[in-house]
Amino acid sequence: MVGTLPPEIGKLKAAILIDLSMNQFSNGIPSEIGGLQMLVHLSLRHNKLQGSIPDSMSRMVGLEFLDLSHNNISGIIPMSLEKLQNLKYFNVSVNKLNGEIPSGGPFKNLSSQFFINNEALCGSSRFSVPPCPTSSKHRSNRKKLLVLFLFLGIALVVVPSPFIFFLIRYRKGKRVLQQTDSLSAITRERISYYELIQATDALSESNLIGSGSFGSVYIGVLRSGTTIAVKVFNLQLDAAFKSFDTECEVLRSLRHRNLVKVITSCSKLDFKALVLEYMPNGSLEKYLYSHNYFLDIRQRLSIMIDVACALEYLHHGCSLAVIHCDLKPSNVLLDEYMVAHLSDFGISKLLGEDQGDLYTKTLATLGYIAPEYGLDGLVSTKCDVYSYGVMLLETFTRRKPHEFEGDLSLKQWVSCSLSEAVMDVIDVNLVTPTANYFKKELEVVASIMNVALDCCAESPARRTNMKDAVGILQKIKIQLLAC
Ligand code: ATP
Repeated sequence: MVGTLPPEIGKLKAAILIDLSMNQFSNGIPSEIGGLQMLVHLSLRHNKLQGSIPDSMSRMVGLEFLDLSHNNISGIIPMSLEKLQNLKYFNVSVNKLNGEIPSGGPFKNLSSQFFINNEALCGSSRFSVPPCPTSSKHRSNRKKLLVLFLFLGIALVVVPSPFIFFLIRYRKGKRVLQQTDSLSAITRERISYYELIQATDALSESNLIGSGSFGSVYIGVLRSGTTIAVKVFNLQLDAAFKSFDTECEVLRSLRHRNLVKVITSCSKLDFKALVLEYMPNGSLEKYLYSHNYFLDIRQRLSIMIDVACALEYLHHGCSLAVIHCDLKPSNVLLDEYMVAHLSDFGISKLLGEDQGDLYTKTLATLGYIAPEYGLDGLVSTKCDVYSYGVMLLETFTRRKPHEFEGDLSLKQWVSCSLSEAVMDVIDVNLVTPTANYFKKELEVVASIMNVALDCCAESPARRTNMKDAVGILQKIKIQLLAC
């Protein structure tokens, strides 16, 4: 289609999905679009749109998905878009935007890939853009401040120097102690061992979130007010030492909105910990099996698309492919907006250049493990694809893979019933047989199950890859939104 987006678009008040991608629309995005408060999904990617992003879009409170990539949009990204609490996907790559990328609200979790190939975007280093220059007015103010501080500094040094001399002597002993506890930081942020202990109330029982195979995780609050999760490794276990080193090595180079962010690490002779971004909604495991929580089809699909995006990045978006090796619902953590973040890289593997697979003796969790990995220790990205398939089946059936014994596996159980009796295998709470859209929902779940079965084909060569899986699942999501 060719032409201009008409202002009347603002009259489509009940629309929940608008996909006008891959057309030839030119001129600006009409500000009337801000009136579409029910809209969940808006894709205008691959057009010839110009002008700026209307500030009125901050009124589109239902928006979860906004794709404006591959256009000629210029100007700034309005800071007011930080108000879009439900926004999970915001792509403005390949445009002519400039100015600061907002960093609050939903922008906290966006990937740097969504901002690439623009004219002059700047802001936080996590978007892989240069820092924003300070304005000349700011610069001259800063000059004045510097002169003032210099003057004050001289006065402060000259007048109380005898006191400072004694103070330095007094604190010297203390500082030597603190230096031995300093952090080997993965990132630039530094938090002292003492601050960690203070933040977690001395790793108290009441701050304990849970324990895994290699150690325990505690909640803490830093002096700055930031809530953190501190993963303390159990150094009695040899494997925990290795797990700490692996997580540090792998996570150092990774950055994606669907991976749990490592703020820093702390390594002393008798203490090793990772300081992680805190995920207030806990794990997918908790949401699937605790009676107090419930996720509907849309939420489950959204979470599994997030996980698929993280895997697509690990397998295809890094300089060396990373294999997670331990995918399961307890390693999928949910932030305040229910965006999923993959965690626990303790047994992950980095593939060398031109290396398709490798052998290992470290075993992942039974039920999720690919046959060639379990039997021969042969690990490749296809093992993650298999585990992802099992997890996708589990998410929609609410049946754990290790509940099945003997010849019947979760995969076989679903595959036998899928063609005639989807209803027999899906989580009974997921669909309402009386609803008008019941049949459509069943079809959607059946297509999700088919993707899952393609992921867990017995032969690695026949399994799909995460790039294709993301594409298909996103199409299914659009189908679901239209139900
Ligand atoms: P295993 O190590 O055996 O696979 P696990 O994945 O449950 O088990 P950990 O990764 O050590 O083990 O996590 C222990 C607990 O801490 C889990 O309940 C997990 O949900 C929680 N947890 C881990 N990281 C965070 C985080 N960043 N924010 C909030 N909770 C977390």
